[in-house]
Amino acid sequence: MAGRVQEKVPLSELLRRHPADIAEVLTTLKEEEAVELLRRLYLRRAAAAPLGEMDPEEAARLLAELNRDEALHILSHMDPDDAVDLLLELPEATVRDLLSRLEARKAQMFRTLLAYPPDTAGGLMSPEVLALPAHLTAQEAIEEIRRRAEELETVYYAYVVDEERKLLGVLSLRDLVLARPDTPIHALMNREVVTLPAEMDVEEVAQLFDKYNYLALPVVDKEGHLLGIVTVDDVMDVMREEATEDLLRVGGIPAGEDLPLDPPWSSVRRRLPWLMGLVVLNLSVAGLVSRFEATIAELAFVASLMPLIADMSGNAASQALTVVIRGMALGLVGWKDLPRILWKELRVGLLAGLGLGLQIGLLSLLLWRKPMFGAVAGLALAGTTVGACLTGGAVPFLFKRLKMDPAMMSGPVATTVGDLIGIGLFLSLATAFRAHLA
Ligand code: ATP
Ligand code: MG
Repeated sequence: MAGRVQEKVPLSELLRRHPADIAEVLTTLKEEEAVELLRRLYLRRAAAAPLGEMDPEEAARLLAELNRDEALHILSHMDPDDAVDLLLELPEATVRDLLSRLEARKAQMFRTLLAYPPDTAGGLMSPEVLALPAHLTAQEAIEEIRRRAEELETVYYAYVVDEERKLLGVLSLRDLVLARPDTPIHALMNREVVTLPAEMDVEEVAQLFDKYNYLALPVVDKEGHLLGIVTVDDVMDVMREEATEDLLRVGGIPAGEDLPLDPPWSSVRRRLPWLMGLVVLNLSVAGLVSRFEATIAELAFVASLMPLIADMSGNAASQALTVVIRGMALGLVGWKDLPRILWKELRVGLLAGLGLGLQIGLLSLLLWRKPMFGAVAGLALAGTTVGACLTGGAVPFLFKRLKMDPAMMSGPVATTVGDLIGIGLFLSLATAFRAHLA
């Protein structure tokens, strides 16, 4: 029954479960209970894998509650790439202390991995990759896999290297098993290897996984030396985090950490500053409205239609900018496309504006039975739609130019600019035709 919070699962039963399920139990428990469970898992030598499956930040919080020897033991039994993710969440002094007490070979490996930025292929990789000398036979290669299976990140691929550990070719486990046992692996290997340069950005790494569909890809340095391996599950974790961040930023929620069940104050702390900034921005709309006080006081129909105009301008702007931001996120549009996007949004705005203008014109004519009301409302909504589409198309590019994340504030800013255009146009038209509307 994975996925359900379970009050008291006997340890023996828990131990039979997948580490990811144990990780889920640890996540749902209160902190003290989680630490308690982790200790009991540790005593059964079963704490490393579940911690590796947890969110590194949470895992680090639990590990910090254990004593140093417990922590060291667990760290040295985790997959190195997971262990490094966890170390990155601990205070620097703690990391230095832990590394100085780890077995020298492990410590050196962790230090090397920690040196790569976390959002690169090097930061994602595990150094525990199967590198085989070219002179081995298929039989010998299989024996080597069997010997090292425990520590290897994956057994599906074997990489063939020269004496300097330069990558020569790749074999899958299937290739090895199906070959005649005495065939040398250099005769079997595929020499056209898809590789990840250590400094490659995770987004690009994900694109390569998507394109080639391998379960793992080897990481190499500039000279082509084999450094490690990135498995598809690690890439998926990173891409999910990035997708969540982008999604939250569209709503003007930065940091990407505002979770549905967080305590209210922590959500407020993240959201309130942006909302307060938007109040200031919206005061410009209020300032604009106050310049037309006479018109509003005189014509009731103007006051009643203002919310509709403002709302529709926001709607049209968000439609346009959602399309543009999604295009940017998928890498479909860049700077060079700005003129074409504005030209397209102009035509969309004109056509949609025509439709909406006619609709509201006719509806107001029916409601107020004054043709001029209908004409002014229709014209204003049509013009607003054009302006809002152009704004929605342009604002994400503006944020990109300012080196800010376009997904972050485009929504709130574009809708407010849309309000300014819509309300300004509507009130100007109403004032200009005041004599005919009274
Ligand atoms: P199965 O598909 O049943 O899991 P498989 O042997 O077909 O097993 P794949 O992952 O589909 O495994 O790999 C197919 C081939 O791709 C293998 O022959 C392997 O040599 C090759 N290969 C694996 N990794 C790479 C890589 N990074 N670059 C180029 N070729 C690779
Ligand atoms: Mg295959």
